[in-house]
Amino acid sequence: MYRDETKVIHIGDRVIGGGNPILIQSMTNTKTADVRATTDQIKRLEDSGCQIIRCTVPDEDSARALSAIKKEIRIPLVADIHFDYRMAIAAIENGADKIRINPGNIGGQDRLKAVVKKAKERDIPIRVGVNSGSLEKEMIEKYGHVTAEGLVESALDKVRMIEDCDYDNIVISIKSSDVPMCVKAHELIAKQTHYPLHVGITEAGTLLSGNITSGVGIGIILYQGIGDTIRVSLTGDPAEEVKSAKIILRALGLRKQGCRIVSCPTCGRTQIDLIGLAGKVEKMLETFEDLNITVAVMGCAVNGPGEAKEADIGVAGGKGEGLIIKKGEVVRKVREEEILGALENEIRKSFC
Ligand code: SF4
Repeated sequence: MYRDETKVIHIGDRVIGGGNPILIQSMTNTKTADVRATTDQIKRLEDSGCQIIRCTVPDEDSARALSAIKKEIRIPLVADIHFDYRMAIAAIENGADKIRINPGNIGGQDRLKAVVKKAKERDIPIRVGVNSGSLEKEMIEKYGHVTAEGLVESALDKVRMIEDCDYDNIVISIKSSDVPMCVKAHELIAKQTHYPLHVGITEAGTLLSGNITSGVGIGIILYQGIGDTIRVSLTGDPAEEVKSAKIILRALGLRKQGCRIVSCPTCGRTQIDLIGLAGKVEKMLETFEDLNITVAVMGCAVNGPGEAKEADIGVAGGKGEGLIIKKGEVVRKVREEEILGALENEIRKSFC
């Protein structure tokens, strides 16, 4: 189903599905049992805009740590469980707001029943995760290799396993590192389920390749009206995942808060350090997360003002100087070293 029609699911005090805003998730990369390190990282991610956080729970110490972590953070906490149903139960008992499991590898129907019973007691959602890397043999044999159809059939089988336990507080994720396969799987499953979809391209890669792969994959899926929450998966600092997710949502017009920066590619006309300036402007704009404005950073006064017209505010570089432009009108001329400060002042004056 398209996101306007999916089932509304509560994760802690947040809501996904049913046309609610698409929430941004990330995952910690600390040892969950290290409460201090994990809490510090989650707080940093909260500050950068993360709305739901997931921690892996591989052992008892990690499960116990969840209750201490929860006391210190403001966003819902999801427990990531592999294989051991006891960890799922312990995570729920320690306050997890949602668990992510693969019902097929949790140790059989009785153990799954025990996990679902516990989730039901606390009324927390279960995210059913299926991944192309761990698709079961039967599906690979049935379809000849790993396919979108196999991923969808596998995911829906797992959903039925939970429904058979008389529970429907469910979120689904289907992940593949292959973009066309991942897109197709989402298109197929959206026609067959009303549960919200957690969208991501798994093992997308390092900062550059991961961002591009995720931008393309998640972008195509979201643009079709599919997907209720996203995670950009990067080999790097999780804060970068959150930043990238925000940019993807903004680029698609699915998120209004936050400043959008448009900057020119530079050319032979550029006479200031525009690449350095654009980076500094982007950093400075992080402090204006609640604003919804477009800021242009253009290299020259020949094309800059015209190109910046569509922006709310911007700068066009000259020879060792810059023009501050608001809604297409030049409001100030400043020296190159004063551009950043002047732009920030003008944003505060005009939009805060
Ligand atoms: Fe070149 Fe000016 Fe266009 Fe930037 S705005 S690419 S400096 S012409």
